[in-house]
Amino acid sequence: MRIAVIKENECEAPDNCNYICAEVCPVVRRGIKETVYPRENGKAAITEGLCIACGICVKRCPFDAIRVINLPDEMTKELTFQYGLNSFRIFNIATPMRGKIVGLIGRNGIGKTTNINLISGEIKPNFGNYSAILQPREIIKEFRGKDIQPYLTDLYSGSLKVVKKPQDFELTGKVRDLVKKNRFGLVPSQLMERDAKTLSGGESQLIRIAVSMDEVADVYIFDEPMNYLDIVHRLLIAKEIRKSLGEKTVVVVEHDLIMLDYLTDFIQILYGSDANYGIVSHMMPSRNGINNYISGYLPTENVRFRNWAIKVKKSGTAEGKKPLVRWPAFEVDIGEFHLKTEAGVLREGEIIGIIGENGIGKTTFMQALAGTLTTNLGLLDLGIKIAYKPQMVQRSDCIVSDAFAAVKADYSTDTDIMSIISKLDVNKILNKNIKNLSGGELQKIAIIATLMKDAEVYLFDEPSANLDIEDRLEIMSIITAIINSKKKCAIIIDHDLMFLDSVCTNSILFGGKSGITGITDRIISTSSAINDFLKRVDVTMRRDSESGRPRINLAGSRLDVEQKMQNKFFAD
Ligand code: ADP
Ligand code: MG
Repeated sequence: MRIAVIKENECEAPDNCNYICAEVCPVVRRGIKETVYPRENGKAAITEGLCIACGICVKRCPFDAIRVINLPDEMTKELTFQYGLNSFRIFNIATPMRGKIVGLIGRNGIGKTTNINLISGEIKPNFGNYSAILQPREIIKEFRGKDIQPYLTDLYSGSLKVVKKPQDFELTGKVRDLVKKNRFGLVPSQLMERDAKTLSGGESQLIRIAVSMDEVADVYIFDEPMNYLDIVHRLLIAKEIRKSLGEKTVVVVEHDLIMLDYLTDFIQILYGSDANYGIVSHMMPSRNGINNYISGYLPTENVRFRNWAIKVKKSGTAEGKKPLVRWPAFEVDIGEFHLKTEAGVLREGEIIGIIGENGIGKTTFMQALAGTLTTNLGLLDLGIKIAYKPQMVQRSDCIVSDAFAAVKADYSTDTDIMSIISKLDVNKILNKNIKNLSGGELQKIAIIATLMKDAEVYLFDEPSANLDIEDRLEIMSIITAIINSKKKCAIIIDHDLMFLDSVCTNSILFGGKSGITGITDRIISTSSAINDFLKRVDVTMRRDSESGRPRINLAGSRLDVEQKMQNKFFAD
């Protein structure tokens, strides 16, 4: 089967191109005008049955708005949903399992949220017939013999109550009025009297999850619950969902692989082409599912969906390398909060991680090093050039390429930078306005702009936020390559332990009490820092024998008990 996708937001017909797509189409030229034609709103449309997939319109569209993709014919019968004419399609469907936690994993724009909305009942399968509204019994009939059928039968008959934590949401009102029950005590009492509008991203996320869990329902759905949460809350939420909802039907979308692995019993992988089509894989036990995702290959389907395997490598050591920058022990007071640090040194080629919960002074520490915040020693001047990506990236009203040029006028002639831009698939948004970018795109732009700066030390505050797994890994390897080859150094604050584990040789663990004191430990190896952190939260972790990725042990399992007895919280 052939699918043609036209991105309506990108297509500027007829105003800015006069349908060049139709003009160049060889089938239209032969007189079959319905092959490429204007739709009601003036944008272009393609009749898939007439298109010969010559690819000329795809190349010639000035806005890069067209994709034409050939798929095996047998896919036709798997088509479950299509938004509209020449738009994104879903093949197969995410399938909740009673009494189990099912995880969905895949790139941004591959259809995870669309699947969540199909199983919550907000949208209904249309099998490609996007202008029809099918009756529940017709839909159920289409899925005869499939595992989803009994679920949809119950859903449409109204006998399932579904609660969903959406990916994006806005909270309004007083926290106490939103969180009426706090059944699981997830919301700390000091937040109760606050106005929801004043909360941080992490605090809002926590409250939205607590509100969902408080509701009594049959099915609980969480779309990217770990976004914005710090590492302590990620573990807390993961434990609580497992413990309290383990007997319910639960579906989770998540990019933090350690948390996804811990949370779920089964995994479905979504693959295909982002923004064009997404295929939902067979159901796999979580461990296999995540290992298959890492390797980029689905054995049951015999499908290679990525031509490289994700590397979960242990980084080498920077021990013995030349010191590049040193900082003294210093202290910072901001309002009620007090930060006390140890002195430190960064070596050539070294990337140091920072681990700790929110409100414990990680960003303050970075700002002090960057010389933008007064310490007890005054403004620090480390005598070295520093580039800094803040946690919150400003959404300016400016074209991406102009923003890049403002950082480095000749960036487009720098082959290293252009290679990063292409690896992160940022070419296609160079002409977009920053204010219209998605969270993930904005994050990538900010990271690239930071790497463009001429500096010795690069500071990144939460670079993985809003990125999917592939982008996280791509960024990891880009940062590592630059820091190593150019003999620079970097410090990274992040809450994704797998990200820190594979990119940072050494780390600094922050202690203290959120909002009151922050105390930094010495620089130690990342696995020791993770070990000490896990000990604090009473969780144990081991490495997967096949993929080498870190996995959390189930509380009370044989490994958990053994590792605690040996005081090995991270069996590395
Ligand atoms: P994910 O959650 O995996 O990031 P989504 O399910 O949100 O992916 O979106 C998948 C694709 O569906 C997007 O790339 C977008 O192009 C398309 N899409 C989402 N909502 C709509 C809509 N209402 N109309 C048309 N296309 C949509
Ligand atoms: Mg989504």
